[in-house]
Amino acid sequence: MDKETVRDIQTKDKRVLVRVDFNIPLDKSTGEITDDSRIRATLPTIEHLVNQGARTILASHLGRPEGRVTEELRLGPVGERLSQLLGRPVRRTRDCVGNEAEKAVKEMEEGDVLLLENLRFYPEEEENDPQFSKSLAQLADVYVDDAFGAAHRAHASTVGVTQHLPAVAGMLMEKELGFLGKALANPERPFAMVVGGAKVSDKIVLLENIMKEVDFLIIGGGMANTFLKAQGYNTGSSKVELDHLGSARVILDKASKNGVQLLLPTDAVVAKEFTRESEHKTVPITDVPDDWMILDIGPETAARFNEELNKCKTVVWNGTMGVFEFPTFAEGTKSLASSIAKLDAMTIIGGGDTAEAIVELGLTDHISHISTGGGASLRFLEGKTLPGVEVLLDK
Ligand code: AMP
Repeated sequence: MDKETVRDIQTKDKRVLVRVDFNIPLDKSTGEITDDSRIRATLPTIEHLVNQGARTILASHLGRPEGRVTEELRLGPVGERLSQLLGRPVRRTRDCVGNEAEKAVKEMEEGDVLLLENLRFYPEEEENDPQFSKSLAQLADVYVDDAFGAAHRAHASTVGVTQHLPAVAGMLMEKELGFLGKALANPERPFAMVVGGAKVSDKIVLLENIMKEVDFLIIGGGMANTFLKAQGYNTGSSKVELDHLGSARVILDKASKNGVQLLLPTDAVVAKEFTRESEHKTVPITDVPDDWMILDIGPETAARFNEELNKCKTVVWNGTMGVFEFPTFAEGTKSLASSIAKLDAMTIIGGGDTAEAIVELGLTDHISHISTGGGASLRFLEGKTLPGVEVLLDK
């Protein structure tokens, strides 16, 4: 990586503001943390700073409080979990700037860890407000960005603050950029990108960019419907983006010109309704009945995808193969996840729903890298510069 990292700088006795991404999933009814991967992923940076004798000041957002103090989105439970994982106290403030935060920082000693309150309780955070950026920066001597998941956003805590403090990458940021960067710039071949999820429109730029890099492009999930329709198949009552049929045709055409093997489903699990309990059956892709919708890839498709993936040395996967939230339509995603987990290859999961599926299936340890940033990894794979990375000091 061409950016300075937390390991390149002296942090002993310094006040170090670390932007982390503790935007973790919480159970809607109990408020309990359902997946703490994002907290665990920041431990190397925090432990490094603690061992160096820094005063570590952590800042994060959680959820979408839309600029207002929202009790359910306070970082209390996150602080408790972090404290358990670190095996040391984590002090918390009920504000992220101003008198209370400043007083708490003043009271810190070498090796202490402090967690500021949810940044997005202030609208100024997402507005990248200069005064708010300054108030955050005033708390520290150095800035470390370890929030890969927020690096595609130009906010006060990811961009504004770097106007006032020397800014370097944390170890998670370094790891994320290392894996994704290697996949794009120097992949071991054959290289396959597996794309799924709801819509083509979300991933069209990704498909266009990745086309130049990959040997295999494997498309499943709801987005495959638009490609199938573009090829003239009957897709019944499936969700199809009619205004993207043209883009799908361009991608299909480019794949054949560039020698990219593009794979689409050859069978599907179809349902009468978009519900958990809907009547359903598996059919060849040539026989999707009118009034039925495709909600998952079928077993023949999963086996074919698996067969091609077995040839690959680099695999990047973003987007579920079906409606994973409904157990009946989760088999395609499960099957693909276990295939990818068995590969002798560098395997990268691009965050979001796909990462949650891997965690739920207990396959985390069998994947080379699970990104903590769905949106950020998409932007990166689209070939875009991430604003939160651009502002860090060059090596
Ligand atoms: P994404 O956030 O783009 O990765 O999309 C994930 C979402 O795509 C999940 O909520 C899935 O339920 C949805 N999805 C996957 N396959 C289908 C499908 N065949 N029809 C409708 N939605 C789907």
